[in-house]
Amino acid sequence: MTTPRPRPPLTPRAVGALLVDTTPWLSCDECFERMDVHVEALLADPHHRDPAMEHHLQGCTACADEARSLLDLLRSGTI
Ligand SMILES: [Zn+2]
Repeated sequence: MTTPRPRPPLTPRAVGALLVDTTPWLSCDECFERMDVHVEALLADPHHRDPAMEHHLQGCTACADEARSLLDLLRSGTI
């Protein structure tokens, strides 16, 4: 038996946000191509926004790990 859960109201604005959010999906190849630029931009400006990259990194553990280690390397000055 399932307990019915109250749902948040799905406003037109919420639907629009969902539709916009799914648009900039990248493939892993595209993500890797842009990773250097993205990470360097993040280091130069912590407020740097790249929605397409952010969405991919949120959903893809492999690329998120890669981005994190690249960021760590650049921060430690190893490269
Ligand atoms: Zn990926």
